[in-house]
Amino acid sequence: MEKSPEVIALFLACARAGAIFLPLNTAYTLAEIEYFVDDAEPKLIVVAPQRISQLVDLAVHKGAMLLSLGVAGDGTLMEAANQQNGAFRDVSLGWDDLVAILYTSGTTGRSKGAMLTHGNLASNALALVETWHFTEADTLLHALPVYHTHGLFTATNTLLLSGGTMLFRPKFDAEEALRLMPQATTMMGVPTFYTRLLQHPGLTRKATTHMRLFISGSAPLLAETHAEFAARTGHAILERYGMTETNMNSSNPYDGPRIAGTVGKPLPDVDIRITDPANSSPLPVGEIGMIEIRGPNVFKGYWRMPEKTAEEMRADGFFITGDLGRIDDNGYVSIVGRGKDLIITGGFNVYPKEIETEIDLIEGVVESAVIGIPHRDFGEGVTAIVVASNGTPPTEAAILAHLQSRLAKFKLPKRVLFVDDLPRNAMGKVQKALMRQTYSDLYG
Ligand code: ATP
Ligand code: MG
Repeated sequence: MEKSPEVIALFLACARAGAIFLPLNTAYTLAEIEYFVDDAEPKLIVVAPQRISQLVDLAVHKGAMLLSLGVAGDGTLMEAANQQNGAFRDVSLGWDDLVAILYTSGTTGRSKGAMLTHGNLASNALALVETWHFTEADTLLHALPVYHTHGLFTATNTLLLSGGTMLFRPKFDAEEALRLMPQATTMMGVPTFYTRLLQHPGLTRKATTHMRLFISGSAPLLAETHAEFAARTGHAILERYGMTETNMNSSNPYDGPRIAGTVGKPLPDVDIRITDPANSSPLPVGEIGMIEIRGPNVFKGYWRMPEKTAEEMRADGFFITGDLGRIDDNGYVSIVGRGKDLIITGGFNVYPKEIETEIDLIEGVVESAVIGIPHRDFGEGVTAIVVASNGTPPTEAAILAHLQSRLAKFKLPKRVLFVDDLPRNAMGKVQKALMRQTYSDLYG
């Protein structure tokens, strides 16, 4: 289904009826949908009217009912709904009952279905309304997709609970966002929303005076983006951290310093700890390790993947996120990358973010991604993929020369490759797994 208010109505109807809502990325092909239908065995499939014919055979074969929902609130789902008498008594449900299965973004491998309960969603919405000071006076500029946790739960549940208003846009467009800001008070976005706003000359202090809060998440916000945005508008973007399996975990403060490059402190009732990936023991303040999360926000497990669930849950209730990070003296959490992106070269651990930060500081570099590629001698070879600016792009040799004075030898990239853009998915996440595939033969 394409994004529309009726999609949210359908989610709420599921919540009240005790059904489980399972939204899917609108970009999926029939073959991909087949996988999810096989995995989830839905009773009812709702699709955009123009895709009905594509899905008829599959629905019949799986014994699922098939209805349509269009962006204008049209389609057979709404026709059927309009024939109901409107009186409905909510099915009695508990905090622990399932309400949704959301698939992860598939950044590190095949998407996994995260089983989420009413308690997971309710506790997180309560925490976010409080933390971000949402009230019924708020209007959220909503340009995110609603098949992902960010646009669906972080944004929508928070606004529904606070009684505020949402301006639903099908996708993000900087020009349109600037035009709507005088009617809005808040925006939630992925970092690319902010970099695109910064490229627009209309982004000024005046254009954003009606806004009280800009929130970013789903991928790392560069400290530089944070600083430039503050210089242009006077707003310090508030960065937070979450994931499909846990909803939101931490947030920079509403009142108090919003520190660029950090994702702030744990939300109310959420515990965050850092453990040693080698032996899982808790690490002291400041050290980098695996981020683990415990709280009412943590999901019930992966749908039909009990072994995977068991691997990622500790006996004391902590969920192993797969993200590496540290917590500083003041309790702020920083993410340094994903465990799967850690590079092991010649027996040394290399954290890509450290190298990326150094490369991004070089004149003429727009952004970079550092990945490990199979290497005969080193196991993995540190490799930098760089997007250079149009003006005076640096050379591979110049970048390496600069890094030599800044980083230990084992951390230095073996090669620096230039690309026009880093591959990103709809949530603005850099696709490192894809890049590792693309360049897998680089070192022979
Ligand atoms: P998969 O689990 O299928 O590989 P995914 O982890 O990208 O995909 P999501 O659940 O959509 O799927 O994303 C959660 C991840 O996004 C987090 O584990 C973290 O790596 C990243 N993330 C979220 N917010 C931030 C942030 N503010 N800064 C850096 N990374 C973030
Ligand atoms: Mg994940």
